[in-house]
Amino acid sequence: MLKLILLIVILYYVYKALGGSFSLPKKEPKESADDGNELVECSKCGVYITKKEAKIKFGKYYCDECV
Ligand SMILES: [Zn+2]
Repeated sequence: MLKLILLIVILYYVYKALGGSFSLPKKEPKESADDGNELVECSKCGVYITKKEAKIKFGKYYCDECV
């Protein structure tokens, strides 16, 4: 029984060691949505502009030419 526990402990550490070396694909942080580079669609002409270029009017995005 003790051997089994020891085996489980060893397997656990092996698992942890492997898990640490695995390079999991990092998800793009969703915070980047707030940096102004997110694309939004102009509500009038449908052109895509970055959020920092967009003008917000009545809660909708508009491009420079449609404001
Ligand atoms: Zn527009």
